[in-house]
Order: sequence, then C-alpha cells, then structure tokens
Amino acid sequence: MAHDITVMLNEIFFSLQGESSWQGLPCVLVRLTGCNLRCGYCDTPYAYQEVREIRLGEIVKEIGKFGCRLVEITGGEPLAQPGTVLLARRLLRLGYTVMVETNGSFDISMLPDSVIKIADIKTPGSGAGKSFRWDNLKHLNKKDEIKFVVTSRADFDWAVRHVKKHGLADKLTVNISPAAGTVSETDAAKWILESGYPLRLNLQLHRILWGDKRAV
Ligand code: SF4
Repeated sequence: MAHDITVMLNEIFFSLQGESSWQGLPCVLVRLTGCNLRCGYCDTPYAYQEVREIRLGEIVKEIGKFGCRLVEITGGEPLAQPGTVLLARRLLRLGYTVMVETNGSFDISMLPDSVIKIADIKTPGSGAGKSFRWDNLKHLNKKDEIKFVVTSRADFDWAVRHVKKHGLADKLTVNISPAAGTVSETDAAKWILESGYPLRLNLQLHRILWGDKRAV
C-alpha cells in the first residue's frame, strides 16, 4: 500500500505468552520501540531506541508467517505510537485475537473494545508510581487484566490498597508480578494468600524457560 502508515518496531517473534492468564499459549509478540517511562526494573531497555521502521502491511505479513492466531503488541510502550491502534484494528479485522500490554499512562479508550488490554499500574517502587491514568479503569472490563509489578512488601500493600479502593478483583484479573531480584516468588505467594483477595501470582514464564535471552 503506497500510503500505508509505519510503526517503529523493535522485534517480532513467536514464543509462549510469558505473562497474564494467557501465559503458556503460543503467541506472536510484536515489540514496538520507545517508552515514556524508565522503570527501575525494566527488562527491555533495548526497546527504548533500537528501531526498524515498518509499514503496517509488512508487519501483518510477518505476523502471518508464524501461523498463530494470538498476537500481543507490547513495548516499550505501544500506545506511545498512533500506529498501534490501527495495527490492532487491522489484526482484529483479520480474525486475530489481539492483546496489548500497556503501562497505563496513555488513554486506553483509543483501543477497540475487543482488544485484550493488560494494563500495568506502576507501583511506587517502579520509580513511576504516579504514571497510571486512573480514568483508564473505566475502559477495562472482565476480559482485560491489571498487573502490579512489586519490588517490596510496601509495593504489595500499595497494590492491595488500590485493589480494595477500586474493587479491582471483582471486575477483572489482577496479576501480582514480583520484580526479578527484589521480592521472592514465595514471599509474593504468601502475601497473596494473606491478603484475602483472589490475586494471580504472575511469574514470568519466559524467564523461567529461557532466562534473560531476548526474543524467546
Ligand atoms: S513501562 Fe515497561 S518498557 Fe517502559 S520503562 Fe517501564 S518496564 Fe520498561
């Protein structure tokens, strides 16, 4: 397409979905370049700058090569690029199940309803604790998910306060993800059980399977 718009792509690969309740399913991961935040525990700093400018038509073609109907658009921060919404629409029209993982600092309502949104609510320990747009909660429903990455017990307690305040656990899946090298998985599990809320322990499957290797 002559006037097809472009997005800034970091990498595209086929793997098992590493996070959320979709964890373990084959998925095409489309990582876009650029992020407006700088979380202390960020495991994809290479996605801040490394870039290949690519037309939406080409990216759809690359996705098609994997023969997989589940696609996640992630980053960096995918909603920092206007092309993300168009890419999601195009993939939905082609019958894909589309997930978008976002840091929640942009207006999520720009995404089509049928996109599965995984929205991070950044805890104070991330260094970006005030970045979440609380208005976004209005645009999330049962099929969407929240993720809190916790770096300490204080972060976990902060997350639980917000789960309670906004009734999050009644509305959608809430993931608690211990940040690597800060909180042990066992501690996070115990805290969840003590909390009395049906929170989901979100361990990064890709790290368990392949360590810190990229594009797996
Ligand atoms: S929002 Fe995600 S990609 Fe951006 S700095 Fe934080 S962890 Fe890294």
